[in-house]
Amino acid sequence: MSAYQQLESIFKKTHHLNHLHAIVSWDEAVMMPPGGGDARAEALGTLSSISHETITQPQTADWLEQANQDNSLNNWQKANLKWMAKKYKNATCIPAELVRQITQASITCEQAWRQMKADNNWKDFAPLLEKTLNLVKESAAIRADSFKQSPYDILIDDFSSEINQAIIDPIFTELKATLPAITQQAQERQKQISIIKPTGKFPIDKQRELSKALMQAIGFDFNRGRLDVSHHPFCGGVSEDVRITTRYNENEFISSAMAICHETGHARYEQDLPTEWLHQPVGQIHSMALHESQSLLIEMQACRSREFMDFLAPLAQQFFGEQEAINPDNLYHLYTHVKPDFIRVDADELTYPLHVILRYELEKQLIEGNLLVKELPAAWNELMQKYLGINPKDNYALGVMQDVHWPSGAFGYFPAYTLGAIIAAQLFAKAKIEYPDIPQQLAQGNFSHLYEWLKNNVHSKASSLSTQELLTQATGNPLSAENYLQHIQKRYID
Ligand SMILES: [Zn+2]
Repeated sequence: MSAYQQLESIFKKTHHLNHLHAIVSWDEAVMMPPGGGDARAEALGTLSSISHETITQPQTADWLEQANQDNSLNNWQKANLKWMAKKYKNATCIPAELVRQITQASITCEQAWRQMKADNNWKDFAPLLEKTLNLVKESAAIRADSFKQSPYDILIDDFSSEINQAIIDPIFTELKATLPAITQQAQERQKQISIIKPTGKFPIDKQRELSKALMQAIGFDFNRGRLDVSHHPFCGGVSEDVRITTRYNENEFISSAMAICHETGHARYEQDLPTEWLHQPVGQIHSMALHESQSLLIEMQACRSREFMDFLAPLAQQFFGEQEAINPDNLYHLYTHVKPDFIRVDADELTYPLHVILRYELEKQLIEGNLLVKELPAAWNELMQKYLGINPKDNYALGVMQDVHWPSGAFGYFPAYTLGAIIAAQLFAKAKIEYPDIPQQLAQGNFSHLYEWLKNNVHSKASSLSTQELLTQATGNPLSAENYLQHIQKRYID
């Protein structure tokens, strides 16, 4: 076996371990009784350390060096080798003891956060967050040294691979300069529209049938995936067995229907990955930014379009009966209603990026040491006032304590959401140029041309290209907010 082949067999083994990790994590969120929690965390910890040992075994460094000299590798193999080297470096450059401390601190902090958020208890939460932050900073500093990047860029790269502050800053500056004014204009305009809320009970079993009908239309492969219920909707599992979840509320079906469109967007990206590379790093989804672009493309661009409401309204009537509120125009107004609010996950399309930019600016300062945890609530409220015109004051659950990301140690994650929205707009604009009938198809619940384009230009590439290369090949341009701003102008202002 060549050195490269040796590496492939190592990474195939870790892929199998990751497969089990993914399914067991799904089980934890969907099936596991509460008493199983501690034992499950321990078992998953063991699985992770076996995976870590597999990658960091003594021969890996030699094989990486030898494979680097191998002139017979094709482009996919070369890209695969690049990912392997990056994973190896990430796995070896941080002392095992520090990794253990980060895992421990973030689990403790996240578990405490759940109750302390409910109790609005910032005072006891702050020291736990500080401990997690300091350990993340320590690890980021070591990796920054090894990868020759700034610590915050290193953390961004964990979730938005090969994207850094130099790429993000001008885009976020542009959004900051335009979105507050557009939000106000959109709100003015929407004052003239009266929205009717659907009323009555929407039985869970009917909502489940609607969910499955939507997944069917979008092209979810039920032979290689399933739908279940969890506390927060997510997409998990592996390409051959994708597990998506949603949650239902008997009093309304609007939010669950759109959560399904979102998660199915994630699922199709996974299900459409090239089968011959599935067990290798190059065959995986590229990054959270790209993953989010695929869910937001389906949710925000396709399924919240006025055209799609022509399909959704009669479909919803099939399950819930006819009522005035369930007509295409009214559903469209419901799904595009703009209102600045405190909670990011409930935010509309226009204000969502402002929630992200606020977090981006704060975590950057936290990581760089220019902002202390004790100063965080005041800094949060100040930016909230500046960007969204509202202030949560001492209600921390509506402010600085609302997200799971920081307590779980996931600093650097937030930009991926807005990068995803921007990439989604850029890809959708180009797909519509190549297939002008996409909007008419969506009006019939037909996603075939949209997915033909996405499969060819995004899904089949897996991780063989960087985000900038992928976007340039697919759309002719690197990452740019232009299409996103045109999209919101058209949807909310014109
Ligand atoms: Zn998502």
